[in-house]
Amino acid sequence: MKLILFGPPGSGKGTQASLLSNKIKIPHLSTGDILRSKLNDNDKLAQELSKIMSSGNLVPDSILNPIVTEKLLGDDCKKGFILDGYPRNRSQSDFLIDFLERNKIILDLVIDFAADTNTVRDRIIERSKIENRSDDNLEVIKTRLEKYFAETQPLAALYRDKFEGKFFEIDAMQEISKIQSDIENRLKNA
Ligand code: ADP
Repeated sequence: MKLILFGPPGSGKGTQASLLSNKIKIPHLSTGDILRSKLNDNDKLAQELSKIMSSGNLVPDSILNPIVTEKLLGDDCKKGFILDGYPRNRSQSDFLIDFLERNKIILDLVIDFAADTNTVRDRIIERSKIENRSDDNLEVIKTRLEKYFAETQPLAALYRDKFEGKFFEIDAMQEISKIQSDIENRLKNA
């Protein structure tokens, strides 16, 4: 099962991706998690990433694209993956579509998590009390949401067209268990 998840920060993509990953035993590739794990390396790249991520800006494609493709070509992704947080802008999207085509990787489902700005902002503020992420403060949350609505959300229309019949919008304002069952029902028919 090969899936891409779209949705604003705080829409619950990560939560659902990890529930699904445990259930159907395919890797959850969260670019945010992968990049955060690199912050522990204490090298030059970690310093650069830390500056970009704590401001809520996007990490350059030149850094992220090779990381994503290396993961997608890994053995553990052969039978499937859940891609969460990528693509996030038009150039990543063009790159990914070309990469999938060249490597004959066929997506099964694209899920778009729909949630309104106020709800996701409140959720991120709540999460910040638990997770202590340097980018979960009001100013940076504003930047991340602006970036999402300006650069990422418009991609959903493109994927809706390109992956007709495989694109599925989910109401991400529902309870976690309801979203989970909606996704599982959709997967049964994928
Ligand atoms: P969010 O909750 O804002 O969606 P993520 O955990 O997905 O957070 O990502 C955290 C940060 O990692 C982003 O603000 C950005 O700096 C960086 N990042 C994650 N995915 C991408 C991407 N596809 N392109 C560029 N930067 C990314």
